[in-house]
Amino acid sequence: MSTAEGTRPVDVLTVVSTTDVTPAVRRVSLSAAPEVVAAAGPTLALLVPRVGDRAPQWPDVARDGRIVWPQGSHGVALRSYTARRQDPARGLVDIDFVLHGDGPAATWAAAATPGDVLAVASVAPLGHTPAGWVLLVGDETALPAISRILAAADPGTRGLALLEVADPAEEQPLVHPAGVEVRWLHRGDPDPGAPDLLVAAVAVLEPPADPDVFAWVAAESATVRAVRADLRGRWGLGRAQHHAIGYWRRGRAMSPAG
Ligand SMILES: Cc1cc2nc3c(=O)[nH]c(=O)nc-3n(C[C@H](O)[C@H](O)[C@H](O)COP(=O)(O)OP(=O)(O)OC[C@H]3O[C@@H](n4cnc5c(N)ncnc54)[C@H](O)[C@@H]3O)c2cc1C
Repeated sequence: MSTAEGTRPVDVLTVVSTTDVTPAVRRVSLSAAPEVVAAAGPTLALLVPRVGDRAPQWPDVARDGRIVWPQGSHGVALRSYTARRQDPARGLVDIDFVLHGDGPAATWAAAATPGDVLAVASVAPLGHTPAGWVLLVGDETALPAISRILAAADPGTRGLALLEVADPAEEQPLVHPAGVEVRWLHRGDPDPGAPDLLVAAVAVLEPPADPDVFAWVAAESATVRAVRADLRGRWGLGRAQHHAIGYWRRGRAMSPAG
């Protein structure tokens, strides 16, 4: 049902349970109607209410995808997340939140309890193109997307996944083709986004002999810019051969809270 001329309501999901996947990652399982779950991903424009607000003022979505915010204070923040898993048969969507300690989304996830709600304004693809040889580069925020890419990859796929996490306790089991090496990089004490662990790891890689190559990169924005420049320059990857997106910005919120 349209809420106003040419707009539609957002899809609201309800928290069923939470699980600590690792010390820094909380999985929030949300329920919705099967058709909503089937459409909820993989990339989500998530509407996160202020902690404790069970009746937030949701925006509507215009036909062109624009979010139409209610007048005045609405207490809802817009953030991008990835559906780690969608199970329409059970009516469940899992979202893995990095508990980085600040920001409306991380704060909401840390406090989430059954019955809490959040909403999805729109969805998008992961931006990955299957190829014979893949390079996957990311930090904890990219693990949900990389886990989906690896799980969906053709069994004959070859390549390398470079995954930056704080320490071994943050590693997660991943289903992946035998020909894709999964290499965990531990940053140790430095703040996330501070060290150029991923940049340095990519800088020593030689491009594969296989011309059917695709690189997918997501992490802190400055890291992604440096990796993207290396892959476009030294590896000579064209636009259709890579997808490199800043998933968060060090010291800056992704957008204002409502
Ligand atoms: C397409 C896409 C998919 C994403 N999928 C996921 C996902 O599945 N899971 C996930 O956890 N994140 C994911 N992210 C990243 C997430 O959107 C950002 O981390 C976002 O900034 C979190 O919002 P917030 O409200 O918690 O913090 P914000 O209000 O945006 O930022 C507040 C402060 O926290 C800092 N900050 C933000 N993120 C981090 C971090 N990871 N580590 C350390 N400091 C941080 C900022 O620099 C800022 O100082 C995704 C991003 C994109 C673009």
